[in-house]
Formats: sequence, structure tokens, C-alpha cells
Amino acid sequence: MAPHSSDDLSTHWARHELGEVVISAKDLQAKIVELGQQITKDYQDNPPLLVCVLKGAVNFLADLMREIELPVTVDFMAVSSYGAATKTSGVVQILKDLDTDIAGREILIVEDIVDSGLTLDYLLRYLGERGPKSIEVCALLHKVGLQRVEVPLKYVGFAIPEAFVVGYGLDVAERYRNLDAIYTFVGEA
Ligand code: 5GP
Repeated sequence: MAPHSSDDLSTHWARHELGEVVISAKDLQAKIVELGQQITKDYQDNPPLLVCVLKGAVNFLADLMREIELPVTVDFMAVSSYGAATKTSGVVQILKDLDTDIAGREILIVEDIVDSGLTLDYLLRYLGERGPKSIEVCALLHKVGLQRVEVPLKYVGFAIPEAFVVGYGLDVAERYRNLDAIYTFVGEA
């Protein structure tokens, strides 16, 4: 795809650090409608607690929850696995825990991107110990070829290649979360 094709005009302020559009805003929204419909179908009898992993999954959660036609509830966790760099450290730190008691609940973790799998693997074990009825994952992006740990992903939006990406919640040093498409990052991290 050509660099900055359809999302060009609104991103002039970030252009010097953005490479090509990996997923356009239109494709993101279309996929999220599909995911919402599937989740609505799968959880008819038991609406899940959506656990959003801050901060990267915030845009995804906000759009996804509005496509789920069930009385879902939401809660937030903040974890840190990268710091400001673009390589995983393998160390997961819990910065904010859930407010909700999840014992006996259906849990759906809403995650922005699965890269090495280390963050999710840790979270699944950490939350699994609190006795949820079920615990599943909905990841917007799955980076193929890099998994160090196999994590079960019930829902995946898009498989993407190994480049470092920003936009739609994903940052580099806290920047670019407010882009409505996903781009490769070509600046200095
Ligand atoms: P993992 O533990 O699977 O290696 O990494 C998961 C976390 O690392 C994600 O939730 C996300 O915060 C961050 N991450 C992984 N790949 C990327 C990427 O390409 N771009 C950005 N901005 N963050 C990433």
C-alpha cells in the first residue's frame, strides 16, 4: 500500500514519523463491527466483563463495546511491558488492578496487540487465579512470527507483520494514540 494513502490529510502533523498505513480507519471499523456481532452471538446467555488493558486498548474498547448488543460491563487494568522503547523487556508490571471481583464471571480481555505474548500470558495466569468462570482474549492485532509464548486468542482482528506500529491507541513514547488508523513508525523511538 502507498505511504499515507487515504488517511493523509488528517495526519500531516505526524507525517515525518509515519511509514505506510498498515490498517486504514475504514478497515478497522468494519472489522470491529464483525467482532462485535460475533461476541454478541457467543455471549448471549452470559454477558462478559470486558477487561481493557490500558492504555493501548482504549480506542479499541470504546469502539468494540458499542458494537456488542448485550449488557456488558467494563473494567480497566494498566500494565507495563515496554517502557518507552520499542522492544519487549519480558517484564510485566501491574500499574493498576481491576476494581471488580471476577470470581464466577465471564471475562473477555480486550487487548491492542499481541507481540511476544508475554503480557497476555502473564495476565491470563494472574486473573485466572481469581476464579473467573471463563477467561478469553479479544486482540485487535496479532504480530505473526514473534510469539515467545503461545496464548489462546478467541478473537483476532488482524494478523500483521513484524514492524513496530502506532496509531489507534498504540503509542511510541505516549504519542500517536490519537491517530484513527494504524501506521508503521519510522521515526526515532
Ligand atoms: P507482548 O508482551 O505481546 O510482547 O507485547 C504486548 C504489548 O506491547 C502490547 O500491549 C503493546 O502495548 C506493546 N506492543 C507490542 N508491539 C507493539 C507495536 O508494534 N507498537 C506499539 N506501539 N506497541 C506494541
